[in-house]
Amino acid sequence: MSEVGVDEYNKLRTVIQTARKLLLLDDEVTLFDEINRIVCEELGFSASVIFIREGDIFRTVSRFSNHPELLSDEIANHTMPVEVVDEIRHNATQIGNLFWMDGRSDIIQNSLGAFIVPTPNFDPSKSGWHPLSVLFAPLFDRDGEIIGFINPDDPKDGTLPSDENSLLLELFANYCSIAIELLRARTNAASRIRILEAQRAQISRLFETTAASRRQEQLTEVLNDFARLMAEAADFQRIVINLKEHNTTRLQLRASFGLTREEQDELAIKATDLRQFEPLTQPEMAIGGVYFFDHNRFSLPDEVWDMLTVPDRAHHDGDGLWHPLDSLTIPLFDFEGEQIGIISLDEPTSGRHPTPSQIETLEFFAAQCEAAISQVVNFQRLERMAQTDDLTHLPTRNFFTLRVDHEIEVAKQSGEKVSVLFLDIDKFKSINDTYGHLAGDNYLIACARVIESFASDSTMVARYGGEEFTILLAKCDSEQAQVEAEKIRSAVESMAIEVENGQKIGSTISIGVATLDPASDSQRYHLIASTELTIALLAAADKALYSAKEAGRNRIATNLLSP
Ligand code: GH3
Ligand code: MG
Ligand code: MG
Repeated sequence: MSEVGVDEYNKLRTVIQTARKLLLLDDEVTLFDEINRIVCEELGFSASVIFIREGDIFRTVSRFSNHPELLSDEIANHTMPVEVVDEIRHNATQIGNLFWMDGRSDIIQNSLGAFIVPTPNFDPSKSGWHPLSVLFAPLFDRDGEIIGFINPDDPKDGTLPSDENSLLLELFANYCSIAIELLRARTNAASRIRILEAQRAQISRLFETTAASRRQEQLTEVLNDFARLMAEAADFQRIVINLKEHNTTRLQLRASFGLTREEQDELAIKATDLRQFEPLTQPEMAIGGVYFFDHNRFSLPDEVWDMLTVPDRAHHDGDGLWHPLDSLTIPLFDFEGEQIGIISLDEPTSGRHPTPSQIETLEFFAAQCEAAISQVVNFQRLERMAQTDDLTHLPTRNFFTLRVDHEIEVAKQSGEKVSVLFLDIDKFKSINDTYGHLAGDNYLIACARVIESFASDSTMVARYGGEEFTILLAKCDSEQAQVEAEKIRSAVESMAIEVENGQKIGSTISIGVATLDPASDSQRYHLIASTELTIALLAAADKALYSAKEAGRNRIATNLLSP
C-alpha cells in the first residue's frame, strides 16, 4: 500500500466527520440511506446498495445511485443466500476487510452471476470495472459476525478503488457497523424500556388488586393475571402456578395460562407434591433462580413424568431447540425463605432453549409473584387476627354481622329463610363472683367449644360480646333453628369444667331464636337494605332471648321477624 498523502488525509477527515453524524441518527432507514449517499458522494462510486442479514439471506435495505433512473426495481428487494455471499468471500480477493471479485471470473460467470445485479450503462470499451464485478465492505456486530455489507458499485473512475480509497472505505464501513450496532442497541433498549414500562403499569395495577385481595378467590384472579403477563413477557406459551397448602407439602393448581380446559381439569385433580418437583430443581439445572431441565442432559424418574402433562406436540430435535420433554421450573419462596409454591413453564414461542434475557424476565416476575402471594397471605393472617376474639378464638361481632348481611342478601334473591340464635349464659356473673374471673374465662371458652361443635358449613358461631354468643343458620327455618337451639341448650346444661380444687363449674344457657322469611313479603323485603334487616333480625333474637330469661332461663324462645 502506498503512503497516504495530504489529499487522502483531507478526504479521510471529511469522511470521518460525515460518518460521525451517522452515530446520531435514530432510525435505520435514514441511517442506511445516509451510508449509501456518503459512499456515492464522498467515496467515488456512482451507486451503492446495502444488504442486511435476515436469517439465511441477505436482503437489500437501501440503494442509492447518482443516476436514480438506473435503479431497477429488481434491486429494490434483492436477496442473496448466505451461501452465495460466503462463496464470494471465500473466492474473492481480500483488500483489508473488503472483498472484491472481478465480474469476468469463472465463479461469477458460471454460478454467482444470477445473484448479482449488473452495473447499469456499462461501456466495455471504457471501463475496467466489469458489470458483474462485486465489492463488499462487510458490516460487523460486536461479536465480529457479519450482519450485512455495503456493496459500492459502478466506480466513477471505472476502476477498482486504489489502496487508499479501499482503506477509506474500510474505515467508513467500520464506522457504519458501529452506527448500526449503536442504533440497534438503542432501539432494543427503548423497546425493552417500553415493554418494562407497560409491565410495570400492569404490575402496579395488579398490586392494587392484590392489596385489596382479602379472599383466596381474589388471589387466584391475581395469579391468573400474573401467569398471563409472565407468559407474554418471557415468550412462553404455557404456565402453571402451583401453591403449597399450609403446613403440608401438597401442591394445589392455583393459576395457569395457555392450558386447554381438559389439561387444567386433569392437573387440578392430580394431587402433586412439592417433593415430586425435586428432580426438576437440582442445583446443576439452576440458572439463577430458574431451573432448566434439558432432557438431553438430565433424566427423570417415571413417577415424575406421570405427574407432568407433556403434550405431544410437533417439535424439531437439535442443539438449542426446545423439546416437549424439556421444562422450566421456578420455586417460589416467602419472605422467611420457606417454599410456598412452584411455577412451571413450557413451550417457548421461539422454540429454543431459554435465553439469559428470558431468564431475567422470569426471575423478575417470580419475585413479583412471591411478593403478591406473601402480601395476600399476610393480609389474611392479619384479618383473621382482627376478626377473631382472643379468648374464645371465635369470630367477632363485626365479622358476624357482615356475614349475616351477606346471607340475607343471598336469601333475598333465593327466597330461603335465615335464622339467628342469640345465646346468653345464665347467671354468669355468679361464676365470676364465686370462682374468680379466670374460672369464668375458662367456662366461657368451654361454652364456646360446645356451641361451635354444632356449627356446620352454613352456620357461623360468634362471640357477640361478654357471655353472649350468636349463631347464624343460613337456609334454615324457625323449626330447624329451634331444634338446633335445643341441642345446644342441652349440651351446655350437661357440660361442666373442673377448677383447681377439683370442683366442677356448670351453668345453663338461654337462647333467643329469630327467623327471617324473605318470601313472606318479598316485594317489601327487596326494598329494605340487607344491613337493616340484619339489625332487625338480631334485635328480634335478642328480644326472644329476653323472653327466655323472663320465663325462667335455661330455655328457648322464638320470634318471627316482621319489621
Ligand atoms: P343473666 O342470666 O341475666 O344473663 O345473668 P348474668 O349474670 O349472666 O348477666 P349479667 O349481664 O349481669 O353479667 C354478665 C357478666 O359477664 C358480667 C361480666 O363481668 C361477665 N363477663 C363479661 N365478659 C367476660 C369475660 O370475658 N370473662 C369473664 N370472666 N367474665 C366476663
Ligand atoms: Mg349478658
Ligand atoms: Mg348472662
